[in-house]
Amino acid sequence: MIAANIDKIKQQIGMGVQLIAVSKTKPVEMLMEAYQAGQRAFGENKVQEMLAKQIEMPSDVQWHLIGHLQSNKVKQIAPFVHLIHSVDGIKLLEVINKEAQKNNRVINCLLQIYIADEDTKFGLSEAETEGMIHSVGFAQLANIKIVGLMGMATNTNDESKILAEFKSLKTFYDKLKPHQAANFDLTTLSMGMSSDYMLAVKAGSNMVRVGSLVFGTW
Ligand SMILES: *Cc1c(COP(=O)(O)O)cnc(C)c1O
Repeated sequence: MIAANIDKIKQQIGMGVQLIAVSKTKPVEMLMEAYQAGQRAFGENKVQEMLAKQIEMPSDVQWHLIGHLQSNKVKQIAPFVHLIHSVDGIKLLEVINKEAQKNNRVINCLLQIYIADEDTKFGLSEAETEGMIHSVGFAQLANIKIVGLMGMATNTNDESKILAEFKSLKTFYDKLKPHQAANFDLTTLSMGMSSDYMLAVKAGSNMVRVGSLVFGTW
Protein backbone atom coordinates (compact mmCIF):
# COMPACT_ATOMS: atom_id res chain seq x y z
CA MET A 1 0.00 0.00 0.00
CA ILE A 2 2.49 2.60 1.20
CA ALA A 3 5.04 1.52 -1.42
CA ALA A 4 2.44 1.89 -4.18
CA ASN A 5 1.42 5.32 -2.88
CA ILE A 6 5.03 6.49 -2.92
CA ASP A 7 5.55 5.16 -6.45
CA LYS A 8 2.47 6.92 -7.72
CA ILE A 9 3.34 10.26 -6.15
CA LYS A 10 6.92 10.05 -7.44
CA GLN A 11 5.67 9.42 -10.93
CA GLN A 12 3.38 12.42 -10.73
CA ILE A 13 5.94 14.87 -9.39
CA GLY A 14 8.81 13.74 -11.61
CA MET A 15 12.53 13.33 -11.03
CA GLY A 16 13.32 16.93 -10.19
CA VAL A 17 11.03 17.09 -7.17
CA GLN A 18 11.86 15.48 -3.85
CA LEU A 19 9.17 13.72 -1.83
CA ILE A 20 9.22 14.22 1.93
CA ALA A 21 7.05 11.55 3.55
CA VAL A 22 5.23 13.34 6.36
CA SER A 23 4.96 10.69 9.05
CA LYS A 24 3.55 12.67 11.98
CA THR A 25 1.12 10.63 14.12
CA LYS A 26 2.05 7.46 12.20
CA PRO A 27 3.64 4.48 13.97
CA VAL A 28 7.21 3.37 13.26
CA GLU A 29 5.94 0.23 11.51
CA MET A 30 4.43 2.42 8.81
CA LEU A 31 7.61 4.46 8.50
CA MET A 32 9.54 1.21 8.09
CA GLU A 33 7.23 0.17 5.30
CA ALA A 34 8.05 3.40 3.50
CA TYR A 35 11.74 2.94 4.30
CA GLN A 36 11.69 -0.52 2.78
CA ALA A 37 10.19 1.02 -0.35
CA GLY A 38 13.29 3.20 -0.58
CA GLN A 39 11.98 6.33 1.15
CA ARG A 40 14.66 8.10 3.21
CA ALA A 41 13.31 11.61 3.82
CA PHE A 42 10.69 11.83 6.57
CA GLY A 43 8.91 14.90 7.91
CA GLU A 44 7.74 15.38 11.48
CA ASN A 45 6.14 18.42 13.06
CA LYS A 46 6.85 17.69 16.72
CA VAL A 47 10.29 17.42 18.28
CA GLN A 48 9.38 14.74 20.86
CA GLU A 49 7.84 12.53 18.21
CA MET A 50 10.80 12.96 15.89
CA LEU A 51 13.22 12.02 18.68
CA ALA A 52 11.27 8.89 19.57
CA LYS A 53 11.19 7.73 15.95
CA GLN A 54 14.78 8.69 15.22
CA ILE A 55 15.93 6.22 17.88
CA GLU A 56 13.89 3.43 16.31
CA MET A 57 14.57 4.04 12.64
CA PRO A 58 17.74 3.24 10.65
CA SER A 59 20.50 5.84 10.87
CA ASP A 60 20.41 6.84 7.19
CA VAL A 61 16.95 8.41 7.49
CA GLN A 62 16.95 12.14 6.76
CA TRP A 63 14.77 13.91 9.32
CA HIS A 64 12.90 17.03 8.24
CA LEU A 65 11.36 19.24 10.91
CA ILE A 66 8.33 20.79 9.23
CA GLY A 67 6.33 22.20 12.15
CA HIS A 68 6.67 25.27 14.32
CA LEU A 69 9.89 24.94 16.32
CA GLN A 70 10.31 26.33 19.83
CA SER A 71 13.76 27.64 20.71
CA ASN A 72 14.04 25.48 23.82
CA LYS A 73 13.68 22.32 21.75
CA VAL A 74 16.35 23.00 19.14
CA LYS A 75 19.06 21.42 21.29
CA GLN A 76 17.41 17.99 21.08
CA ILE A 77 17.32 17.76 17.31
CA ALA A 78 20.55 19.66 16.57
CA PRO A 79 22.77 16.55 16.48
CA PHE A 80 20.92 14.88 13.63
CA VAL A 81 18.22 16.99 11.94
CA HIS A 82 18.67 17.11 8.15
CA LEU A 83 16.60 20.18 7.30
CA ILE A 84 14.45 22.57 9.34
CA HIS A 85 11.62 23.88 7.12
CA SER A 86 10.03 26.26 9.59
CA VAL A 87 12.46 29.04 10.49
CA ASP A 88 10.41 32.17 11.11
CA GLY A 89 12.83 34.68 12.58
CA ILE A 90 16.38 35.65 13.50
CA LYS A 91 15.95 34.68 17.18
CA LEU A 92 15.22 31.06 16.30
CA LEU A 93 18.02 31.10 13.75
CA GLU A 94 20.48 32.30 16.40
CA VAL A 95 19.52 29.41 18.67
CA ILE A 96 19.86 26.89 15.82
CA ASN A 97 23.26 28.38 15.00
CA LYS A 98 24.44 28.05 18.61
CA GLU A 99 23.30 24.44 18.92
CA ALA A 100 24.77 23.55 15.53
CA GLN A 101 28.09 25.01 16.64
CA LYS A 102 28.05 22.85 19.79
CA ASN A 103 27.61 19.84 17.51
CA ASN A 104 30.34 20.95 15.13
CA ARG A 105 28.02 21.09 12.19
CA VAL A 106 26.09 23.35 9.87
CA ILE A 107 22.32 22.93 10.01
CA ASN A 108 20.46 23.54 6.75
CA CYS A 109 17.27 25.57 7.09
CA LEU A 110 14.40 26.90 5.03
CA LEU A 111 12.72 30.19 5.79
CA GLN A 112 8.98 29.75 6.18
CA ILE A 113 7.27 32.49 4.23
CA TYR A 114 3.74 33.56 4.96
CA ILE A 115 1.72 33.26 1.73
CA ALA A 116 -1.70 32.12 2.93
CA ASP A 117 -4.73 34.21 3.50
CA GLU A 118 -5.11 32.87 7.06
CA ASP A 119 -3.94 33.95 10.50
CA THR A 120 -3.07 30.45 11.58
CA LYS A 121 0.00 29.91 9.46
CA PHE A 122 3.39 30.94 10.78
CA GLY A 123 6.00 32.61 8.71
CA LEU A 124 7.93 35.67 7.66
CA SER A 125 6.67 38.34 5.30
CA GLU A 126 8.76 39.09 2.23
CA ALA A 127 9.89 42.39 3.74
CA GLU A 128 10.91 40.72 7.01
CA THR A 129 12.83 38.09 5.07
CA GLU A 130 14.81 40.63 3.06
CA GLY A 131 15.53 42.69 6.17
CA MET A 132 16.79 39.63 7.98
CA ILE A 133 19.08 38.19 5.32
CA HIS A 134 20.76 41.54 4.79
CA SER A 135 21.27 42.22 8.50
CA VAL A 136 24.67 42.26 10.23
CA GLY A 137 23.45 39.70 12.76
CA PHE A 138 22.51 37.25 10.03
CA ALA A 139 25.93 37.48 8.36
CA GLN A 140 27.56 36.29 11.57
CA LEU A 141 25.70 32.98 11.69
CA ALA A 142 28.31 30.52 10.43
CA ASN A 143 26.67 27.27 11.55
CA ILE A 144 23.39 27.61 9.72
CA LYS A 145 22.75 27.71 6.01
CA ILE A 146 19.56 28.97 4.40
CA VAL A 147 19.06 26.64 1.45
CA GLY A 148 15.54 27.57 0.50
CA LEU A 149 12.03 28.70 1.29
CA MET A 150 8.90 26.92 2.53
CA GLY A 151 5.30 28.00 2.26
CA MET A 152 1.79 26.72 2.85
CA ALA A 153 -1.16 27.83 0.76
CA THR A 154 -4.57 28.73 2.10
CA ASN A 155 -6.75 25.77 2.94
CA THR A 156 -9.39 26.28 0.25
CA ASN A 157 -10.96 24.47 -2.71
CA ASP A 158 -10.17 27.43 -4.92
CA GLU A 159 -7.32 26.04 -7.03
CA SER A 160 -6.63 29.34 -8.75
CA LYS A 161 -6.06 30.96 -5.37
CA ILE A 162 -3.73 28.17 -4.25
CA LEU A 163 -1.80 28.33 -7.52
CA ALA A 164 -1.49 32.11 -7.24
CA GLU A 165 -0.09 31.82 -3.72
CA PHE A 166 2.46 29.20 -4.77
CA LYS A 167 3.43 31.28 -7.79
CA SER A 168 3.97 34.32 -5.59
CA LEU A 169 6.38 32.29 -3.44
CA LYS A 170 8.22 31.05 -6.55
CA THR A 171 8.56 34.65 -7.72
CA PHE A 172 10.01 35.66 -4.36
CA TYR A 173 12.37 32.64 -4.45
CA ASP A 174 13.59 33.72 -7.89
CA LYS A 175 14.10 37.25 -6.59
CA LEU A 176 16.25 36.08 -3.66
CA LYS A 177 18.18 33.42 -5.54
CA PRO A 178 20.91 35.73 -6.92
CA HIS A 179 21.77 36.72 -3.33
CA GLN A 180 24.64 34.48 -2.29
CA ALA A 181 26.55 34.34 0.97
CA ALA A 182 28.46 31.75 2.97
CA ASN A 183 25.23 30.96 4.86
CA PHE A 184 22.75 31.64 2.08
CA ASP A 185 22.42 29.62 -1.12
CA LEU A 186 18.93 28.83 -2.36
CA THR A 187 18.33 25.46 -4.01
CA THR A 188 15.11 24.27 -2.37
CA LEU A 189 11.52 25.42 -2.63
CA SER A 190 9.36 23.37 -0.24
CA MET A 191 5.69 23.72 -1.09
CA GLY A 192 2.80 21.36 -1.59
CA MET A 193 1.05 18.77 0.57
CA SER A 194 -1.49 16.00 -0.12
CA SER A 195 -4.25 18.36 -1.20
CA ASP A 196 -2.20 20.65 -3.41
CA TYR A 197 1.19 19.18 -4.35
CA MET A 198 0.46 19.05 -8.09
CA LEU A 199 -0.42 22.75 -8.04
CA ALA A 200 2.78 23.40 -6.12
CA VAL A 201 4.86 21.48 -8.67
CA LYS A 202 3.17 23.39 -11.46
CA ALA A 203 4.20 26.61 -9.72
CA GLY A 204 7.84 25.49 -9.43
CA SER A 205 8.13 23.55 -6.17
CA ASN A 206 11.04 21.08 -5.98
CA MET A 207 10.16 19.58 -2.59
CA VAL A 208 6.71 18.36 -1.58
CA ARG A 209 5.68 17.34 1.94
CA VAL A 210 3.05 14.63 1.64
CA GLY A 211 1.46 12.78 4.56
CA SER A 212 -2.07 11.45 4.09
CA LEU A 213 -1.56 10.33 0.50
CA VAL A 214 1.52 8.31 1.49
CA PHE A 215 0.32 6.75 4.74
CA GLY A 216 -3.44 7.13 4.49
CA THR A 217 -5.75 8.81 6.97
CA TRP A 218 -6.89 6.84 9.98
C1 LIG B 1 1.00 17.67 8.11
C2 LIG B 1 1.82 18.54 7.26
C3 LIG B 1 2.02 18.24 5.90
C4 LIG B 1 1.39 17.05 5.21
O1 LIG B 1 0.01 17.15 5.21
P1 LIG B 1 -0.89 16.08 4.38
O2 LIG B 1 -2.12 16.82 4.11
O3 LIG B 1 -1.08 14.93 5.31
O4 LIG B 1 -0.14 15.73 3.17
C5 LIG B 1 2.83 19.08 5.16
N1 LIG B 1 3.41 20.16 5.71
C6 LIG B 1 3.24 20.49 7.01
C7 LIG B 1 3.91 21.69 7.54
C8 LIG B 1 2.44 19.69 7.83
O5 LIG B 1 2.27 20.02 9.10
